[in-house]
Amino acid sequence: MKIRPLILSLCVLAAAAGCDQHDPDEVWQDAIVLRDTALQDSAAYDIVESLTTEVGPRSAGSAGDAAAVRWAINKLTTLGFENVRGELVEVPHWNRGSLTVRIKEPFAQSLVATSLGGSPGTSEEGIEASVLRVESLAELRDKKQDEVAGQIVYIDHVMQRAKGGDGYSDASRIRSCGHVVAAERGAVATIIRSAGTSTHRFAHTGSMLKNSVPANIPGVAISNADADMLTRQVQSGGPVTIHLRSTARDMPKVMSANVIGEVPGTGDNADEIVLLGAHLDSWDLGTGAIDDGAGVAIVTAAAKLILDRDERLRRTIRVVLYANEEFGLSGGDQYAIDHEDEIAKHVVGLEADFGAGSVWRISSRVDEDSLDIVENLYGLLEPLGIELGNNESESGADLSPLRKAGMPILGLTQDGTHYFDYHHTADDTLDKIDRDDINQNVAAYATAAYVAANIEQDFGRLPVDTEPSSTCAAEDD
Ligand code: ZN
Ligand code: ZN
Repeated sequence: MKIRPLILSLCVLAAAAGCDQHDPDEVWQDAIVLRDTALQDSAAYDIVESLTTEVGPRSAGSAGDAAAVRWAINKLTTLGFENVRGELVEVPHWNRGSLTVRIKEPFAQSLVATSLGGSPGTSEEGIEASVLRVESLAELRDKKQDEVAGQIVYIDHVMQRAKGGDGYSDASRIRSCGHVVAAERGAVATIIRSAGTSTHRFAHTGSMLKNSVPANIPGVAISNADADMLTRQVQSGGPVTIHLRSTARDMPKVMSANVIGEVPGTGDNADEIVLLGAHLDSWDLGTGAIDDGAGVAIVTAAAKLILDRDERLRRTIRVVLYANEEFGLSGGDQYAIDHEDEIAKHVVGLEADFGAGSVWRISSRVDEDSLDIVENLYGLLEPLGIELGNNESESGADLSPLRKAGMPILGLTQDGTHYFDYHHTADDTLDKIDRDDINQNVAAYATAAYVAANIEQDFGRLPVDTEPSSTCAAEDD
């Protein structure tokens, strides 16, 4: 990686005494210093190491979730953030229980499988039924009731590997909606090939949408290797029968929290907010290192670097570690409700929820008149190996309620080539994180947040988006 030389500004030299003002050029020069400091800083790795070691799995409503909230409040306080607090969020609580999935015929074998979030369990005896294999939701939608009823639908869609994670939208839609389309046609359960690219024998969990029409049926994912084998059995000609038994169940709702800490602005626009977001919850199979311990670490370490400069900021940098992104976006939705009165004060948001792979592109969704800021920012990030993208950034899920309400977005796209090898599996653990890569992320986030918090201009506002969220209907495929 080629890094621009250090340029020491007056502000840095005066840092010990506290720096009181910014001339416009100084903001950009100080951002370079910050960027280069971040590359040598180990704070992000230390944070995700602490979270995955001291808390580990933390799915919504679990004891791990409560421990994560305590951990986050303690961590942000210890690091010196101000206005540290937990804002209460009611979250659903689902327990996966135990699961066995076994092919009975033609060739008896057990499958490595995991229940999908929200799946109901089976009776004590389990479900035994023949398997109907399809490759897509469209193929399933074309089936008539009598072709599907009473069977276990197996959706065998292979997710494609891509740097930008492009294959995930189709794969996750099957995970979210497969059981709905299958249940409408009378199926008794759904098995999907995992929405993931792991070549090892790990099943990928993730949420499925609640279905009330006509009944919620169990949904499970099997590992890619097991899906290959099941497909070979189906293609061998004879009927395939599977026995599936699960004790997954819904539990009473629980109170969790969005955990917030700030680097307060003290300048003219101190009531304006630059939001850095990531989600604190994780699925329960791994320790949530890349999803989203890495994001928690990146945004916290980026803000901490700015905090440590001990200087006046024009605007406030607010770190929000969201509750329950994985199983229904409770934290993102609740934040937009709790902060409705100040949404217009959120000048820009950045979210980290795509692992710890290095950032390779900056894109945005800002007012067209503010694109020159993004281009100038790109000038600072380009030495980190970052390209300039378009102005159609979507943000991550947690920021989507604010984006729809008009908050501009800066999108730092991480390299997701290997993200879906581990995503939502038991293999999502700390060893998958590379120190240099996560530091490069911190450099990019800190640079962007610092500039956004200090320049005189802002990013305008986005048009309010009232499009309803997508359902499992065919027209939304
Ligand atoms: Zn995530
Ligand atoms: Zn996730």
